[in-house]
Amino acid sequence: MINPTKYIAGIKKDTCLGCGTCAEKCPVDAIILEDDKALVNQKICLGCGVCTRFCPINACTMETRPEKVFVPSNTFERVALEAIDQGKLGNFIFDNQISRVHKFLSEIINDFTKLPPVKRFLFKEKVYTQMFKMFSKQDRFKKIVENRPREQNLLPCPSRPGH
Ligand code: SF4
Ligand code: SF4
Repeated sequence: MINPTKYIAGIKKDTCLGCGTCAEKCPVDAIILEDDKALVNQKICLGCGVCTRFCPINACTMETRPEKVFVPSNTFERVALEAIDQGKLGNFIFDNQISRVHKFLSEIINDFTKLPPVKRFLFKEKVYTQMFKMFSKQDRFKKIVENRPREQNLLPCPSRPGH
């Protein structure tokens, strides 16, 4: 549900030469060769665009992901969204592992936010945007938010300058 970009690599099968350059360059091994054609594992692909840059005949393209993905604006948002996605929002809010109260409260929040309707609600853009605004005012998160402007945290998409 959470991805560094909203793009995904695609292969034009009719033109792909099966040279394997894209597979070799992919930083997360998301491309394999099958029947002498490149094949993208969509579950692994980050949408970074490296493969597109190295394909000698433009058979490797970047496409918009069909499913809705959440693209974090900075490291803080990425960590917070991952916490929601993995049902660990409680650990994120109550992070004092020595405190029994924090442990107790984080378990309650975790159990509650694992419920599918609650998770769906938290993933609404308006809801998590408000939540992040609230979190970012807390001293312990301020540094992360202030030190990590959006541009430093997104992987560039070489085939779509400015994205
Ligand atoms: S877009 Fe990036 S992660 Fe996806 S297949 Fe290409 S190089 Fe690999
Ligand atoms: S680099 Fe291009 S031509 Fe070579 S395998 Fe990948 S998609 Fe096909």
